[in-house]
Amino acid sequence: MHFRFDPARLPAATEALRQEVRAFLSEELRDTPAEVRARTWMGVDREFSQKVAARGWLGMTWPKRYGGHERTAFERYVLIEEMLAAGAPVGLHWMGDRQSGPLLLRYGTEEQKSELLPRFTRGEIFFCIGMSEPDTGSDLASVRSRATRIDAGWMLDGTKVWTSGAHLSDYMIGLFRTRPAGESRHEGLSQFVVPLRAPGISIRPIRDLSGIDHFCEVVFEEAIIPAGSLVGEEGAGWQQVMAELAYERSGPERFLSCHPLLVELIRELGQDGEASAGERARVEIGRRVARLATLRGMSISVAALLDRGENPELEASVIKDLGALFEQELPDLAQELVGLAPCSDPAARPFQRALAHLVQNAPSFSLRGGTREILRGIIARGLGLR
Ligand SMILES: Cc1cc2nc3c(=O)[nH]c(=O)nc-3n(C[C@H](O)[C@H](O)[C@H](O)COP(=O)(O)OP(=O)(O)OC[C@H]3O[C@@H](n4cnc5c(N)ncnc54)[C@H](O)[C@@H]3O)c2cc1C
Repeated sequence: MHFRFDPARLPAATEALRQEVRAFLSEELRDTPAEVRARTWMGVDREFSQKVAARGWLGMTWPKRYGGHERTAFERYVLIEEMLAAGAPVGLHWMGDRQSGPLLLRYGTEEQKSELLPRFTRGEIFFCIGMSEPDTGSDLASVRSRATRIDAGWMLDGTKVWTSGAHLSDYMIGLFRTRPAGESRHEGLSQFVVPLRAPGISIRPIRDLSGIDHFCEVVFEEAIIPAGSLVGEEGAGWQQVMAELAYERSGPERFLSCHPLLVELIRELGQDGEASAGERARVEIGRRVARLATLRGMSISVAALLDRGENPELEASVIKDLGALFEQELPDLAQELVGLAPCSDPAARPFQRALAHLVQNAPSFSLRGGTREILRGIIARGLGLR
């Protein structure tokens, strides 16, 4: 087994879209401060998501009959890299566009697809992902939340935690146990599209280190959801979730979460002309930009694999791991090169405010979407080393 990172290029035809997106973003984000841009895909702005929807940029690659726009995966790639590089507040629609929509297209019933997807692409509803639970993160097969078949549909009991954006979402794609584990713990799990306003569901936002209510605890107490909420096959949840995670690990969000800080860093170092930056700073910036270009090349190569319908689990894990390392080093390096401490005071320099946000958030980059150790385990297995 070896890595498949064949060189791939974004088609020249995507350039017109890139210019269109840049023009849109420079207008929309004109007054957005650096610390808000630094949130990138954790930033939330309902009005912004609705404007993106109105442009036809949600569900861009999905079939028109489900509200999509039938554009190419490369066009979507260009759109999201521009959004991330600019620090656009894409968080509200992020999960639905990246994951829940593609999952429903692949496994959902006709009713789920025709009922939910057009509403999402119009910016009317948003999704969150309910996999993790207290005591269940890396070891996802140990999910204990239950879905029980009853006459009225399915009854849900249990607790999900760290669910990004649950308090702002309308539906959760949740993983529940529908049967006791058999010989394999991977058996008996199923996915549901859960309407979050159903009685018996309570959502409590959890404030993170930087003071943002980004993720939530979601408690299900005899919550009854319709029979038609099952996604895909009962008991096949594990296989479906594994397919879903490939969408999650290779995109540009895995190395562009700190991009607004890199921009502020270069701005800060160049304040008094390029000469003021000093030799060390120039070398370090050059190194980071080269690494960024390499990660981007690898990620575009995986986009090409996905476009051909191939499973990039191994390559996606490599990108996520290297991307998290790249992003986590940047705040410390930035502080060292500029010699200014992080500070969230509104009167502080934009660089310091962006730095303050990222110093507090960067540790989570190697947790969300699969921890470093888990990814390295996947890589070792993919290479036949374990
Ligand atoms: C910002 C953020 C957003 C998140 N959003 C969501 C979301 O929207 N939906 C959702 O479902 N979850 C979400 N999560 C949860 C995330 O998926 C879990 O935190 C992650 O999978 C790790 O699980 P855990 O926290 O239970 O840690 P654990 O699994 O308990 O891991 C603790 C430590 O032990 C290590 N470890 C565990 N097992 C092994 C092993 N077999 N070998 C070696 N080392 C191991 C881990 O690498 C880690 O360092 C989010 C997390 C963060 C930080």
